[in-house]
Amino acid sequence: MNAYKHKLPRRRCLLLFLVLMILPLAGCARMNQAEDTELILGTIVNTRIYGKMSRERLDEAVAAAMDRARSLEQIFSVNIECSEINYVNQNAATAPVPVSKDLFTVMERALYYASLSDGAFDPTLGRLIALWGIGTEQAHVPDGEEIAALAGKKNYENVVLDAANRTIYFKTNDFSLDLGAIAKGYVADEMKRLLVEDYEITSALLNLGGNVITIGSKTDGSDWTLGIADPKNPEDTKNPAVLLKISGQTLVTSGNYQRYYEAPDGTRYHHILDGSTGYPAKSGTVSATIITGCSMDADALSTAVYVLGPEKGAALIETLENTEAVFIDDNGNVTATSGIHDKLHEGSLTLKEN
Ligand code: ADP
Ligand code: MG
Repeated sequence: MNAYKHKLPRRRCLLLFLVLMILPLAGCARMNQAEDTELILGTIVNTRIYGKMSRERLDEAVAAAMDRARSLEQIFSVNIECSEINYVNQNAATAPVPVSKDLFTVMERALYYASLSDGAFDPTLGRLIALWGIGTEQAHVPDGEEIAALAGKKNYENVVLDAANRTIYFKTNDFSLDLGAIAKGYVADEMKRLLVEDYEITSALLNLGGNVITIGSKTDGSDWTLGIADPKNPEDTKNPAVLLKISGQTLVTSGNYQRYYEAPDGTRYHHILDGSTGYPAKSGTVSATIITGCSMDADALSTAVYVLGPEKGAALIETLENTEAVFIDDNGNVTATSGIHDKLHEGSLTLKEN
């Protein structure tokens, strides 16, 4: 009898114990992480996401984001023979070419920034970029006459977009598109959108070769700390020139130390061209960084203000809402737009002591 009496309370105790063990586990599941790195659009793309869902689900989210990036590469890469952009380049001077939503969206924004920057950012420099070939095996210093024949054209004014039919048409046949200065930003935005909308990711850091985009804040609620490379030592990621704290925003840098061709005489020719001269931009800028919400905007603007230089570039950025810029010039001076100075005062920006 006694033995029987004891059994029930003991079983109930065990049940209570199990419930008490399981409840807190269900309430605050462990924070998991998933990460992957791949070469897409000629860039090392690193995706790192955090969440309380299962590791499998997080892995699935990273894979889906990478898939999206790879499918966009098929649209935007001029280095893939049958990419959509190459198809447009071959056919748009003959008749309007119907294009994907992705390409149309990026072209609309590209033409907007071309006119806003008066051609400092110009998506129609394809032939000039191919002529120099910087960053490819064919890199060389072209003949002055060949450069002059392609310079000073403002061909972005000869691109006709028809939103109703979603087509692109070239009014003349002497130019081609290159979206290398804006496509990576769009890819970053799309990866972020997919992670947030389809997978409810609230904390992530995506780095597309210097185009960094964040989702929310770090898992402990603090800001992400991002560095702007020291041009004298760009590989030394532990010692950046500037440190910035951001949450949910994007930080995109255009610099002359990342991709260049060194001629036999030792002269360096970098990959950001000034369409008005046909030569690599010489504006006194070594790097130009944009901090804003949309990575496509940041990408186009970082190239635009690189070409414009610290003074004109900062003046342009001051006219835009929620957009800031940091410049490092030829003499190593760091300058920034007004909103960045507020960050400096708040302590969310650090300039490295020299
Ligand atoms: P990165 O590609 O290193 O991130 P950018 O965003 O500044 O740097 O893009 C540079 C690329 O954009 C070049 O490799 C070339 O394809 C293209 N490009 C070069 N000069 C210009 C320009 N003035 N306007 C638009 N695109 C440009
Ligand atoms: Mg850019």
